[in-house]
Amino acid sequence: MSETARVSARGAKRIAAGHPWVFRSDIERAPSTEAGVVPVEDQRGKGLGWALWSPASEISIRHIEADPKARVDDAWWAARIGAALARRRAIGGDTNAVRLVHAEGDRLPSLVVDRYDRWLVVQLLSAGLESCRAAVVRALVAATGCEGILARNDASVRTREGLAREVTVLAGGVPDEIEVTEAGVRLLVTPRDGQKTGAFLDQRENRRLVASVARGSALDLFSYHGSFALHLARAADRVVAVDSSGAALERGARNAALNGVGNIEFVEADAFAFVRDRLKSGERYDTVVVDPPALAKNRGSIAGALRAYHDLNVHAMRLLAPNGMLFTASCSYHVGKGPFLDMVRDAAADAGRTLAIRAITGQPVDHPEVVTIPETGYLKGVLLEAIG
Ligand code: SAH
Repeated sequence: MSETARVSARGAKRIAAGHPWVFRSDIERAPSTEAGVVPVEDQRGKGLGWALWSPASEISIRHIEADPKARVDDAWWAARIGAALARRRAIGGDTNAVRLVHAEGDRLPSLVVDRYDRWLVVQLLSAGLESCRAAVVRALVAATGCEGILARNDASVRTREGLAREVTVLAGGVPDEIEVTEAGVRLLVTPRDGQKTGAFLDQRENRRLVASVARGSALDLFSYHGSFALHLARAADRVVAVDSSGAALERGARNAALNGVGNIEFVEADAFAFVRDRLKSGERYDTVVVDPPALAKNRGSIAGALRAYHDLNVHAMRLLAPNGMLFTASCSYHVGKGPFLDMVRDAAADAGRTLAIRAITGQPVDHPEVVTIPETGYLKGVLLEAIG
């Protein structure tokens, strides 16, 4: 009986290679304790530091600290969270909607923290982390001075950890709707029932980028609550915002009113059908955004997802007016950067368009993609300009 997790040679190698996860098959001796922070050692008993231990999960331990002499106490959480916050200073003051902690990307495995103005929305996505909840909450309140913390612990991965799926307030009070600003655009966010933790913070820089080249007649496909559309509306003459969610579009219309913007038309439609219809009716757009949900949910659906991305992009490219600008993105972790760019190339060929790459984008500073942890990266985008 020991509370130390002993990992196999392969498990130790994985940690040494910069990946915090050790799977159940690489645990040589499981800790005798409940979920929590445990010491880790290699086959020879050499201390490898500390990890979050999840007895029910396939990902048994998530390594958090390499120094065996360190203590994972309140001061430790405060330091790690403080380092993540410091990294966000680069974002500047023109937005108050920021991901403060991007889990493994900030060396805080399975912890997501998004800030919406004076409130935080968190996700505790492992049993090991859940057992540290009180310390995490204390550190977050102390570091941010927030007025409330909501746990969006309704993600399905919690089930694999043996944890309940729930949405609960962990500190203070949290409103149902929060107004945030992003580069001068005002947005209403619904943390309790919105997608992700309420908004798609990961596209912040891409919205800025596209707004800087937007003009004429614009189309925002998969608009959610109008995020790209609101930025496009400042530079373009008119914007059509398409989404299949009536509730998201309804908030989009309220966001437009909040910003005094009158040139966005919100259309509830299936984007795949919409692009076909508009192509048939001869409509063309000077600026197009394609930001679908993750079409590849797992390894098995990669081929089908690539066909769907291809189909969407061929149509979006054909809808481009001469010299038009297209921003196309994928947030599927399972579709890597290479296959995504190959898809863009094939779609351009099939659309019969000459397209120049103006920018290839990834994740913003508040969503760090760590090179040794592929799971921290998922978002890629390309800004294309039609040559003729
Ligand atoms: N561009 C948004 C994020 C889009 S997320 C932003 O920057 O905030 C993907 C969106 O696609 C969701 O709002 C979802 O409701 C919508 N969606 C999913 N399937 C769709 C479909 N077939 N047609 C249109 N919209 C769809």
